[in-house]
Amino acid sequence: MRRTLLLVCVLLLSGLPYALAEEEPKASDPKATDPRPTDPKAADARAVAPISAERLMAHVRWLAAPERKGRGAWPDRKATADYIAAEFKKAGLQTVGDRTTMFQDKAGLKEPAMRNVIAWLPPGKGGTGDHVILSAHYDHLGQKVFEVEDGESITRSTVTYHGADDNASGVAALLEIARYLGARYKDGLPDATRGIMFIAFDLEEQQLLGSKHYVAHPWLPLSACSTFITMDMLGRSVADLVPGSLFAMGTENSQAVEALVRYAGQPKGGKLIKVGIDFQPGYSDYVPFMEAKIPYLFLTSGACEDYHRPTDVASRIQPTHLLARALWALKLTQSLSRSSRMPRWRAGVAPNVEEIKDLRALISTLEKGLASVPNLPPMVTMMVGNYGKYLDKLLADDAITKEERDGARTGALTLFRAAQQMAGQMRSGR
Ligand SMILES: [Zn+2]
Repeated sequence: MRRTLLLVCVLLLSGLPYALAEEEPKASDPKATDPRPTDPKAADARAVAPISAERLMAHVRWLAAPERKGRGAWPDRKATADYIAAEFKKAGLQTVGDRTTMFQDKAGLKEPAMRNVIAWLPPGKGGTGDHVILSAHYDHLGQKVFEVEDGESITRSTVTYHGADDNASGVAALLEIARYLGARYKDGLPDATRGIMFIAFDLEEQQLLGSKHYVAHPWLPLSACSTFITMDMLGRSVADLVPGSLFAMGTENSQAVEALVRYAGQPKGGKLIKVGIDFQPGYSDYVPFMEAKIPYLFLTSGACEDYHRPTDVASRIQPTHLLARALWALKLTQSLSRSSRMPRWRAGVAPNVEEIKDLRALISTLEKGLASVPNLPPMVTMMVGNYGKYLDKLLADDAITKEERDGARTGALTLFRAAQQMAGQMRSGR
């Protein structure tokens, strides 16, 4: 821990050189930011219960229940895949093309080695033939057995990693968006030029095997996938200190996606943080799609203090923020399915002052959050304060160089990690 803190201090005190910045890229596109409105007659034709925090939490509780045993071993993943497929069917979603199943299996010795669950909502009349993918991984870390030697006897204890935030929260959003759109548009999405493919991936926690398998064996041509969205952890926030915030990452690789993210605005009760994909230290199911140069978006509320711990349980999810993020994802998915333009891949854009502005807003919220942590060493508050000042300095210049941007990114990553560990330790005394 100390080494991490020192690293941040060195970084923050070092001060990075200023240089002439490149021209800021144009991000807005009036066509893309103005998706056609839904036909009111078609929309009113079917009354559908809105997505609610209660509905989302019912899924989270089922997925993160002790009976699921952390969705790691095959029988528990199979039961989860069955639950998801049943929800997709209840929503009125179809199987893809002429397939008769929603399960994409990879053969194993006795049982499937992997099972993705895939459902389809077709476009309205005159669809272009391409599609949007909305996804979330449903597997988690399962259980671990610990042995404690006490003199001559060995005590075994089983610990379950429930994975409520990671990623029952994302699956809950996926299922609710599927239910809402599926029930509302049973005969296809009116006004939508693209269909929506819903995928619940298996084995994200094991080197992204589920999403890698899909990219290697797509059910619709990848060239027809206009945008890939994945939701991974939507129920908490970074170190639980920036409630309501939502990271939208990957817009640097598509101008149209960036424009629609702008159009979607802020999640209710929180701030949208639009930063580059390199702000994500780990990785998630977007990676194989990004490598295939398909425009993508990674949605996450970040690593909470219970990240990959047995304490990632349903009761710690923040239902109203989960709801706000699910509604934001719904809005974005609908815009992507209706937008007249096919998003195109672009190489990452130049350093961008908007990114630093979002980051600055996040740091201000983090400073407020840290004030609520008991017994926090003053050094942490000072570090965060210094980082905020560093960002202010960058913003005063109104243009960002690559070196300055790299400094801001490294600082943010280290700070988030330090805050996550620190807040956890101070709150629980561990
Ligand atoms: Zn995850």
